[in-house]
Amino acid sequence: MNTCTIELPEGRTIAFTFDPAQTLLDAAAQAGWELPHSCRRGNCESCRVQVLEGAVHPPARQGSALLCMSRGCGDVRIAADRAEPVSGAARKTVQARLYRLRMAAPDVAVIDLRFPAGVKVPFKAGQYLQVHLAGAQPRSFSMSSAPRAADGVQLQVRVLPGSLFGEQVLPTLKPGDTLALELPFGDFYLREGPAPVIMVAGGTGFAPMQSILEDALARQPERRFTLYWGARRADGLYALEQVAKWQRRHANFRFVGVLSEGETADTGMRQGLVHEAVLADHADLSGHQVYVCGNPAMVGLARERFVRERALPKASFFADAFAATAQA
Ligand SMILES: Cc1cc2nc3c(=O)[nH]c(=O)nc-3n(C[C@H](O)[C@H](O)[C@H](O)COP(=O)(O)OP(=O)(O)OC[C@H]3O[C@@H](n4cnc5c(N)ncnc54)[C@H](O)[C@@H]3O)c2cc1C
Repeated sequence: MNTCTIELPEGRTIAFTFDPAQTLLDAAAQAGWELPHSCRRGNCESCRVQVLEGAVHPPARQGSALLCMSRGCGDVRIAADRAEPVSGAARKTVQARLYRLRMAAPDVAVIDLRFPAGVKVPFKAGQYLQVHLAGAQPRSFSMSSAPRAADGVQLQVRVLPGSLFGEQVLPTLKPGDTLALELPFGDFYLREGPAPVIMVAGGTGFAPMQSILEDALARQPERRFTLYWGARRADGLYALEQVAKWQRRHANFRFVGVLSEGETADTGMRQGLVHEAVLADHADLSGHQVYVCGNPAMVGLARERFVRERALPKASFFADAFAATAQA
């Protein structure tokens, strides 16, 4: 058995022994520690850490490695942004039935699925599931429904040109058909506390934000939540009725819609990139928690700029980068 020591912000360290056959992410989880991660396939960069001492396989590149892919070769010392005690429900695989499928935008399908009678699968608002498809890698989608609707889940799926699930599987599905779902995954969920929350969603990155807001707004009426939601054009903001409902009901909820290409005159939307709208509105993010979901480029830029230019502590940045599976 070897030892992995993790250096954390503010001089904290944790250490655990690991079996060299395991990835460091799995070894940490087995030892009771959840480290930042998302896709678990070496694709989204959420679990990249600095390797300070020792060797990992595959070898670190420029001193950094992905925890979900790396195995330790002997004792290792790494630096991570945060480590939290593992919490949450055991993962399950269920055959869920399609209840309803509708297009919320020309390229966004909203899919309601029901678990088998009597089956409940707890998850935390913001987490994601994997859809198992015959002969292909599982596809990851965030639950957009709140966990209290525990008899099923809703997904919001961007239909990408040339995609397996979006273009080939979805059009064949009829109500009553089953999909094999495995859940829950991921560390994208709301951390409790009084800190004001900024949420930044690109496109279907809105899905986990909907789950979190449905769960949290009523429970934490004193907490400030601001949702920035960006898309190319207005039809990409496909759930504005839902957003308007939160605005009517919750005094501490604020919404900023941002369009990168579309016309914004008379829409109340801002023009530009969604993470840049946050930068324009906030000179200092140090007292906030920031939650970001969307394409990996936007997530990477948001992290870098919020931390470097707006003093956001790395440990207060939470993200799911919606990396494509087929390009992995
Ligand atoms: C944690 C997490 C949560 C996510 N949540 C959501 C969500 O809630 N909603 C959502 O819409 N997405 C989400 N995603 C992204 C989603 O998982 C990916 O976009 C996934 O690839 C979609 O599966 P698909 O079968 O529809 O597309 P895929 O078949 O995986 O295709 C994806 C893209 O790759 C291209 N492609 C296909 N084959 C190849 C090839 N051989 N070489 C190169 N490119 C190829 C396709 O043209 C397409 O543009 C999430 C991702 C992660 C990691």
